[in-house]
Amino acid sequence: MKKAMAVRTAVILAGGPGKRLECFDTIKPLIKVGGKPLIVWTIERLQEAGILDIKIVVNPGDTLVQRALLGDARIHATVEYIDQPITRPTMLGSVLALEGKIQGPFLLTVCDVLSARNTYTLFQKVGSREMISIGVSMEQAAYTLSGATIFAQCQKGRVLQMGAHIPEANAMEMGIYAFGEGALSLFVKKAKRLPPQASFEEALACYAKQMPLVAVACPGTWFDINTPSVLIRAELFLQQGDSRAAKKQSVKRLARLSAPISFRFQKLLAFDVFVKRGLLKNIGRYEVIPPESYYAPHHLIVDKNIDALYGKSLHKQLLALGYHVNKIVVDPGEWTKSADVYLRLAQQILADGIDKKSIIISLGGGVIKDLAGFLAATLYRGIGSIHIPTTVLSQCDAAIALKQGVNGEGGKNLIGSFYAPLKVLVDPDVLTTLDARYVSDGLAEILKQAFAQDAKLYQTFVSYRGPLKHIPFLEKVIRWSIRLKIASIQKDYYEDHVALVYQYGHEIGHAIEFLSGYQLGHGESVAIGMRVSAELSRLMGIADDAVVQKHIDLMKKYRLPVEVPVSIRAEDVMNMLKSNKKFHSGEAHFVLVKAIGSLWNQRGRYTATCSDVLVKKAIQLSYAPGS
Ligand code: NAD
Repeated sequence: MKKAMAVRTAVILAGGPGKRLECFDTIKPLIKVGGKPLIVWTIERLQEAGILDIKIVVNPGDTLVQRALLGDARIHATVEYIDQPITRPTMLGSVLALEGKIQGPFLLTVCDVLSARNTYTLFQKVGSREMISIGVSMEQAAYTLSGATIFAQCQKGRVLQMGAHIPEANAMEMGIYAFGEGALSLFVKKAKRLPPQASFEEALACYAKQMPLVAVACPGTWFDINTPSVLIRAELFLQQGDSRAAKKQSVKRLARLSAPISFRFQKLLAFDVFVKRGLLKNIGRYEVIPPESYYAPHHLIVDKNIDALYGKSLHKQLLALGYHVNKIVVDPGEWTKSADVYLRLAQQILADGIDKKSIIISLGGGVIKDLAGFLAATLYRGIGSIHIPTTVLSQCDAAIALKQGVNGEGGKNLIGSFYAPLKVLVDPDVLTTLDARYVSDGLAEILKQAFAQDAKLYQTFVSYRGPLKHIPFLEKVIRWSIRLKIASIQKDYYEDHVALVYQYGHEIGHAIEFLSGYQLGHGESVAIGMRVSAELSRLMGIADDAVVQKHIDLMKKYRLPVEVPVSIRAEDVMNMLKSNKKFHSGEAHFVLVKAIGSLWNQRGRYTATCSDVLVKKAIQLSYAPGS
């Protein structure tokens, strides 16, 4: 006997009538078991067995399988598609289509077999040239459960005969074959002599007259998923297995996150914020996804920058925990927070699959969080979301907010909703890689709280002398900021009285951000907006000169702009105010500051209507002197 040869190539049969789905009128390779399409199970197991050259036989012109697998992060093998001949839409036709397309030994498998153990590892070597090995199940309990229909008679390691009715049968054929080098051409030669309607089993029987068929006994439970009942059986089997594994994992590895800063509004609207250094690096130690969502398909949304820094590692850790997580990578920048991108992602996620227990996980700055939060709020009329913010701004503000949404063509945040996440995970350590400009940009939102809400926080910023990007300092002010924000939105969910503090500086800020073509960051624009609002408060007789000067000094200290860029005309800002959500009944409404740490309000009303003349004057006072 010649030396055994390693198998490096596999063929998956996913063509033919019903895609080997005789009694089921959906596309079988794409039917999901345990939250994953059958064909992905097959490919993953082949990869585990070291087979990285995979050919998939599909019906001519069929792009469904290709589209479903395109960009799937679970697949790292090279995948090539081979069209099955129109004239022979049978399993034998699929095998004949391989003629001249494969060199060396290969594994042939149908796309609808799922086994508890990785059966493909038993075929890593094939015995000799021109030999065909056949996977057989010899344990009666296993093959009765499998739902398979092709019996086999095996003796002394050989398959003597196969078919649907074999009185001497002692095994079940599993749809897995290893072809030794040269076996395909001999098989094709013999099969071509048979009538066109001949079956694969008949061709094998013909082959066996010249070369023996080797039986490879595959132990354990397996399923040939041809009917809904077998599908349900397989699903239940996987769930039992997974829940045993999950139990072991949660006892052994998953520690509960502790010391949350908690938000409680109504029972249905409760979420916790966890602030912990090193959280992202060690996420595998914590119960991030709630147990009831263990089996659901989840989607991780991340931008390209964050993917390289933290996304790949987070994704890997979540997959290693056994969660089904599909990663979606988008371009960084404000333009991603658009209705177009929202719609494209919504369609993509629906096509990839979700259920009511699915969770959208956002990893990134405010842009990613707002986009992902809106997807979670709207898909299936609301699924879970978990935010892992990575900028100062998103850690202290965007991720804590209940406001989710995208920009409209005419301005910021025009399409959106109020929606609470399941939890927010804040890891201050990720700020080490954040550009210094974004550190200042994010601090603008915390300075806003200092100016409008908390004089003690203002004093902390005034007395701090260290570098801006000092993680313990950032952690301290971010925690402080989150507590303030949670306390406010807890009192005022829709942000229309006390929580209007969050809008301080935003009326003008949003206009400036939009008019700068998003060249200015959100925080930078809000900083300029706060300067204008402080000027307006003074013009309205609400605040004194010192309040304005304190704004300017502190924002300069934290390297924030305090002047309206000369390229932005006061008239354009005025026009933009009309598309702000706080413009109604023909008037712009402003949140104004009375003194450092406190907002102006009149009997619970926190916005003032200001005349156009005063607003324009406040903007003009905020240009650089002499411009
Ligand atoms: P961003 O999301 O655009 O991120 C800024 C940049 O930093 C991006 O290029 C990103 O890839 C990169 N980045 C993020 N984290 C990083 C890290 N740890 N290391 C290195 N690079 C990193 O900007 P942002 O300032 O976080 O968010 C701005 C958005 O947030 C705006 O759209 C704003 O409207 C929104 N926002 C929403 C709310 C709300 O209530 N929903 C509140 C405030 C702001």
